[in-house]
Formats: sequence, structure tokens, C-alpha cells
Amino acid sequence: MELKDMLEYQELDRKYFVLEKKLRESDELKNANKVQAAFKQSQDAIVSLSSKAQQRLDALTRLQEKYQRAVRELEELTSESGNIEELREADFYDKRLAEIDKVLEGLEKEIIAAGDDLKSLSGAISREQQQQQQLKAQYAAAKKKYDALKLSIQKEAYPYVKQMEPLKANIDPALMERYLRVRNNRKMPVLVPYTASGGCGGCMMELSESEKGKLAASGICECPNCGRLVYKV
Ligand SMILES: [Zn+2]
Repeated sequence: MELKDMLEYQELDRKYFVLEKKLRESDELKNANKVQAAFKQSQDAIVSLSSKAQQRLDALTRLQEKYQRAVRELEELTSESGNIEELREADFYDKRLAEIDKVLEGLEKEIIAAGDDLKSLSGAISREQQQQQQLKAQYAAAKKKYDALKLSIQKEAYPYVKQMEPLKANIDPALMERYLRVRNNRKMPVLVPYTASGGCGGCMMELSESEKGKLAASGICECPNCGRLVYKV
């Protein structure tokens, strides 16, 4: 009988489900995920630091160009001022020279500040890179532990899987599909008996008349509340 096979399959699957849960909730998996998340965070930090560094570098380039233009102007003025005879013009040159000097002084300070920023950003990047190396090693160790646990759980689960295979062949694919849909929502057991009080054996909610009708007709119905498959023997 199909339902008998399905229930037998479920009994084995329940044990398999418990093992899956054990792996899913293991410290080994949590630890590997934690290290992976830290690595991702560090990578994001590097991306953001690199973009800031690029911005600072561009700003520094612009400052240096500005500085060079001011220096050129200063040189031109200095060479021109050699031919000045009129006092009024000499005053103009002196004023302009003083202005350029001030601009150069300001630019020097900005260039130094931008250079310092760049240095501290590149320091932060290399610290992140060092941390990434450590995280890579940590991840490799964590992954190894997780893989070892996974392998041992797979070995433990193997007898159940082997017994489930022949049963599966006898089960209607449509019923199996419904079963798997519930199971994929991590609900176990999937198949629950119809209770004496007319409810779902999973969540105890009373079934509607229409579901009771389906149950009477096909021996199986879906609980509208928890989605489990309710059967009647
Ligand atoms: Zn239910």
C-alpha cells in the first residue's frame, strides 16, 4: 500500500532529517560561516578604503598641478620684474609675488595633509590585507572541521538513504512532490494522522469541511494551517 510505504519512508527520513539538522546547527558550520562573513566584511572594507585612497590621490594630483602652475607664474613674474622701471608697476609685481607665495604656502600644507591621509589609508589597507591572510587560514581550518563532520554525518545517514531508495520507487511521484514541498519548509513529520477530534495531527487545528471531504475521498488532505499532509487510516 502506497501510504504504508510513504510512512515507512518518512520514518527513515525523520532520522535523516535529524542528522541534517545536526549538521545545519553545528558549531562547525557556524564557525565557518562566521569566518567567511568576517572575510567578506574585510573585503568590503578594502574596497571602500581603496576608493577613498583613489579620491585622495586624484585630489593630490590636482593640488600638485595647481602648485606647479603657481610656481611657473612665480618664475615668469620674477623674470619680468627684472625689467621694471616704474615704481607703480614694481608695486604691482611685489603684491602679486606676495599673493603667489601665500597660495604656494597654502598648497604645500594641503599637499602634506593629502599625503598624510593617503599614507594612513594605505596603512589601513595593508592591515586589512594582513587580516585577510589570517582569516583565510582560519577559514581553511574551519572548513576542514566542517567537512569532517559532514562526512561523518553522511556516513551515519547512508543506511537510511539506502533503505529509502527502494521505498521511493513505490511512492506516487505526485505524493512525493507534495511531501518534499512540506519537507523543504523544514517541517517534520510531514505526514500526520487525522485526530479523533477531527483535526490535524501536527498542529491540532480542526480541518474544514472541504478538507475533510478530500480526506474521505483520497485518504489524504493538506492542513490549511500548517501545510502538513493529514492522512486517515
Ligand atoms: Zn496542521
